[in-house]
Amino acid sequence: MKKVLVLGGGIGGVETASALRKEGFEVQLVSDRDYLFINPISIWIPTGEISPEEAKIPLNKIGDAHGFYFKKGKVSSIDRDRVVLENGEEIKGFDYLVVAVGQSKLKMEGIENTLSICGSPEEVVAIRDRLSELVKKGKGRIAFGFGGNPKSPESVRGGPVFELMFNVHNYLKKLGLRDRFEIVFFAPMEKPGARLGETALKLMDKMFEKSGIKKITGKKIKKFTPEGVVLEGDSIEADLVLFTPAGDGHPLVKNSPLPQTEAGFLKIDWNCKVEGEENIYAVGDSASIEGPQWRAKQGHLAEAMGKITAHNLAVKEGMKSGDFESYREHINILCLMDTGDGGALAYRSDKRAMLIPMPVIGHWLKKAWGKYFKLTKLGKIPKIV
Ligand SMILES: Cc1cc2nc3c(=O)[nH]c(=O)nc-3n(C[C@H](O)[C@H](O)[C@H](O)COP(=O)(O)OP(=O)(O)OC[C@H]3O[C@@H](n4cnc5c(N)ncnc54)[C@H](O)[C@@H]3O)c2cc1C
Repeated sequence: MKKVLVLGGGIGGVETASALRKEGFEVQLVSDRDYLFINPISIWIPTGEISPEEAKIPLNKIGDAHGFYFKKGKVSSIDRDRVVLENGEEIKGFDYLVVAVGQSKLKMEGIENTLSICGSPEEVVAIRDRLSELVKKGKGRIAFGFGGNPKSPESVRGGPVFELMFNVHNYLKKLGLRDRFEIVFFAPMEKPGARLGETALKLMDKMFEKSGIKKITGKKIKKFTPEGVVLEGDSIEADLVLFTPAGDGHPLVKNSPLPQTEAGFLKIDWNCKVEGEENIYAVGDSASIEGPQWRAKQGHLAEAMGKITAHNLAVKEGMKSGDFESYREHINILCLMDTGDGGALAYRSDKRAMLIPMPVIGHWLKKAWGKYFKLTKLGKIPKIV
């Protein structure tokens, strides 16, 4: 049986490993954490709506359910025929390698004065603790923002920042404290969220207005300080800055001999194969995604890339017949943007751009999705698609 080594136990890596097993490969998945962290529902940790444990699924249990072997280990270097772990252990002898280690974030001056909802699980818990301190104090100013990366526009992550911001707004409202808190949103681009289309932008503007959130956009971020944010020609004083820099290439990829973009993302072809390599594939956030201007890196795309990789390897190995598949037709934006008291369904494709408000039901649909995701990963119910 051909052996595949998958690096990274996030949304993309886990889907790849499970799909490869279904195709009949022997699979080992190596990841630095022993659980899959469900990013889309982690936005509820800061407001205490779910516990950090509820956003985790043990990787050994997923491995048992889908038949792959999980090994906990932090990868320190990737080469074509071997992978080295932080403890010095070498992994060799695999027929194929799939890189799914996610992305890093752009370094910015004073970033240590901020916390990101797209950071490590520990950072997400730190947001909860800082927010709870402010709630105890009974007043404050919170600044929310996200940055851009001109070298990789598809790696900008604004959705979770909007979700956290509206969740915090509704949380403070429920506590009867909203009028004692100021919420400010900032971003260097003129129209943050523009990839969702003009109609969506108008609706977002209405949501900002209705929630009493001040917006400062189109001003370059110079640095972060313990007092807040310094912008070009402006500044924001804040008790808490919740900022997510744009994605940057993972250091493992940047330090590897593999072909990569200027921003440090793996260059892949439409079949998810790393350019110029015979047995190396990449899925999800660590790969450079080609396509329309509005394209974005998302969990559902990472999963589609995982399935495509497994299918293509099976075809290549003669284990099934058919054509190679491409991730091109899976490029769209599909996101149920949660607000804590409801949500909005964001969708963008070549043909359509829309944001459909879903008061109340949106929140419960996302909750239901979280439960469905967990049960399918644990093999307790089958996946719908
Ligand atoms: C807060 C948040 C909310 C989101 N909401 C949505 C949403 O609603 N819908 C949607 O479609 N997308 C959403 N996304 C985006 C989605 O989560 C990502 O696109 C997706 O997780 C990418 O999958 P991945 O496997 O490429 O990377 P990741 O999920 O980041 O997984 C990378 C894995 O690699 C491991 N790893 C990293 N470095 C090493 C190393 N050196 N050695 C070993 N292992 C390593 C990590 O621990 C992690 O398990 C959200 C993202 C965030 C952060």
